[in-house]
Amino acid sequence: MTIQVTCSSMPPFGEFCEEVRDLWDSHWLTNMGAKHKLLQKQLEEYLGIPHVSLYTNGHLALENIIAAMNFTQGSEIITTPFTFASTTHAIVRNGLIPIFCDINEKDYTIDVNKIEQLITDRTCAIIPVHVYGNICDDAAIEDIARRHGLKVIYDAAHAFDVTVNGESVANMGNASMFSFHATKVFNTIEGGAVCFKEDKLVQVLNDLKNFGIRGQEECDYIGGNAKMNEFQAAMGICNLRHLSDEITKRKKVVEHYRERISNVKGIKLCEEQEGVVSNYAYFPVMFDGYKYSRNEIFDMLKQHDILARKYFYPLTSSFACYKYYPTAGAEKTPVARYISERILTLPLYADLVLKDVDRICDIILA
Ligand SMILES: *Cc1c(COP(=O)(O)O)cnc(C)c1O
Repeated sequence: MTIQVTCSSMPPFGEFCEEVRDLWDSHWLTNMGAKHKLLQKQLEEYLGIPHVSLYTNGHLALENIIAAMNFTQGSEIITTPFTFASTTHAIVRNGLIPIFCDINEKDYTIDVNKIEQLITDRTCAIIPVHVYGNICDDAAIEDIARRHGLKVIYDAAHAFDVTVNGESVANMGNASMFSFHATKVFNTIEGGAVCFKEDKLVQVLNDLKNFGIRGQEECDYIGGNAKMNEFQAAMGICNLRHLSDEITKRKKVVEHYRERISNVKGIKLCEEQEGVVSNYAYFPVMFDGYKYSRNEIFDMLKQHDILARKYFYPLTSSFACYKYYPTAGAEKTPVARYISERILTLPLYADLVLKDVDRICDIILA
């Protein structure tokens, strides 16, 4: 049987049925219903953050929080190209210009020593990515943002349930976006959230995700539609109950991988970050000077029906759709390019059996 790179976490079938039973009584399926409100409250408590706004997916959550900041069209946002398409697209779809900063070699997050040289009088914000659940250097980013009057919005799609010194990463910057897509550590089938502290953003985000409709005869804002529905919220309520078990199982898988392939010449793994409790979202492995290249390993695994992922390759800055953008080109971020050509994320999910981890490692080490 094929081993996929990931496998969605699902609650016991009966538990989900029980959770959605009320919906057959209420016939209330969306528009900020009871499940939506309950999950929102649970997440605010769980993450220890004043406000959570729930979305139908993470991408629209990111697009909307950028829109909520009301930046002047054509302003520049400093971000990294070593990410999923969504991060860069969310900037451009808001009429803003991505300025690509390189990443650091250690944890693949934004290189905080290279941000300031990219700041111009058109810069309005920084959108760093907690890539693979590795956490950005928030203190340094905060300091730069404060000195230059910039907003900070984190793409925290990979970092749900990660804490730094006991506090959720949801508290960093002006806002953080989480994705609850089926492939993420915590899923609501599809879904996402923006987390923030500022009270006045609550209304703006509600307007943006619900057509700007405030009452039956009132529309103050040109909003779109990006609300999380009741089935998504019910899935989230169930999955949240099992999250810590799922993460514990993922941790066992990662520890087994580490036992097998750390200390192999030419194979580089991410180190654990100080003070950070991981969610074990991904297992990225860099093949740098190993007897096989990343692409060879990818092909060898595929021959055995094991699907790894070249995540993230290519860089978003070298996508065809950005060909004519002035900031395009992988050569501008040499570290990101180097890593994207050598990195592979190996299969990782809660129910991946250790025997299969052994098989994967045997192929890599053969
Ligand atoms: C998954 C992901 C997103 C988008 O989230 P969706 O919920 O799939 O829309 C954005 N950024 C990163 C880095 C992601 O991995």
